[in-house]
Amino acid sequence: MGEGNTGLEQRDLAVLWHPCTQMKDHERLPVIPIRRGRGVWLEDFDGRRYLDAISSWWVNLFGHSHPRINAAVKAQVEELEQVLLAGFTHEAAVSLAERLVAISPAGLRKCFFADNGSCAVEVALKMSFHYWRNRGELRKTRFICLENAYHGETLGALSVSQIPLYRDTYAPLLRDAIVAPSPDCYRRAPGETWAECSRRGFEAMADLLERHADEVCAVIVEPLVQCAGQMRMYDPVYLSLVRAACSQHRVHLIADEIAVGFGRTGTLFACEQAAIAPDFLCLSKGLTGGYLPLGAVLTTDEIYRAFYADYDTRTAFLHSHSYTGNPLACRAALATLSLFEEQPVLAGNRQLAQAMAAATAHFTDHPHVAEVRQTGMILAVEMVQDKATKTPYPWQERRGLRIYRQALARGVLLRPLGNVVYFMPPYVITEDEIRHLAEVAWEGINLATSD
Ligand SMILES: *Cc1c(COP(=O)(O)O)cnc(C)c1O
Repeated sequence: MGEGNTGLEQRDLAVLWHPCTQMKDHERLPVIPIRRGRGVWLEDFDGRRYLDAISSWWVNLFGHSHPRINAAVKAQVEELEQVLLAGFTHEAAVSLAERLVAISPAGLRKCFFADNGSCAVEVALKMSFHYWRNRGELRKTRFICLENAYHGETLGALSVSQIPLYRDTYAPLLRDAIVAPSPDCYRRAPGETWAECSRRGFEAMADLLERHADEVCAVIVEPLVQCAGQMRMYDPVYLSLVRAACSQHRVHLIADEIAVGFGRTGTLFACEQAAIAPDFLCLSKGLTGGYLPLGAVLTTDEIYRAFYADYDTRTAFLHSHSYTGNPLACRAALATLSLFEEQPVLAGNRQLAQAMAAATAHFTDHPHVAEVRQTGMILAVEMVQDKATKTPYPWQERRGLRIYRQALARGVLLRPLGNVVYFMPPYVITEDEIRHLAEVAWEGINLATSD
């Protein structure tokens, strides 16, 4: 871009291989060097600003460079930057585990730290399998996941993910999961409510549990919103039904709230909307306010006790990551949780969610918008070629990319998932900024659907 970035773009492309990127795209598409972040704004070396409408891949909650989180990390780095968590402990990890146990759904009493989201999913899958093994149930070796699910990129997490774009290439390396239809309400029948649609979606899951319970360790779901799966949404009733069926069939329920936890869906955790508690709760992303990588898996005393025995029984969970429970990450997380305690965050988000709905109310009239859907602080707009039949644009046309470029030119970071434009902004966005965001998205949609 401009001169101010001191050749960073060229240096970058000479050595860096970027995540989730066809690097050849950068022959036409600039990489954008960011010098600093403040609140919802990212700023480049020429002073150009970008409104971070997607919370830097859904991790940021209270804006970039938040004074409280900055101070917490700075204070911790002066005391202890890292210590192994096997045989040793530190105040930040203990306090964070205490706070997570206190705020998570009832019955989750033990906290195991990992160092990112995919690893938290690996931990939950392995723990569930290992629990049944420790109980002598050796036939339980499989998992049920949902169609269109996303649980991360490592091979175990990818095995329970069902987005062809990320999965298909690696299919020969993956274990076969049992796949239940998604309760996604986008394709609900005319006149059908979300609840009716999700209830109907549950019938196949009930059937799979009935048939496979004796070989299944756990069902894994993303509560309420399949975020990487194009922000497809469903009704809380589905979670209630899955919870009851899992209990009935002696199968664990793993709730992957890595993307939807910490207020994204309107409640602190999405599971609260169905008044359920999973057997495993996976957390990451917003856990540290978007500062540092950290994952956590919360589980029950009952599961913990199945591993608790004399060493020579070989029932221990011998899983670790080097940076497990890193003190700096734990401090960032504690400061983030303090912000939830001290400020009416969820009430503020209700206001902001209403503003997002109001600013996009007219989008449904667009001839190429099939749906505007929203769950709390996540709002998604589904662009289609044919509105009546909901026929999508061919993926090769990359219409979302046109919106990405147009929005950048207008100082907004939007990063559509295929044909779905979405807002998942930091909670410190203002109503004016939301209106601006909606205007830019509207322009982008018009541009992307003009031929
Ligand atoms: C992002 C995400 C993950 C993976 O987390 P990483 O930290 O990127 O490995 C897992 N599950 C869900 C639902 C996610 O959105």
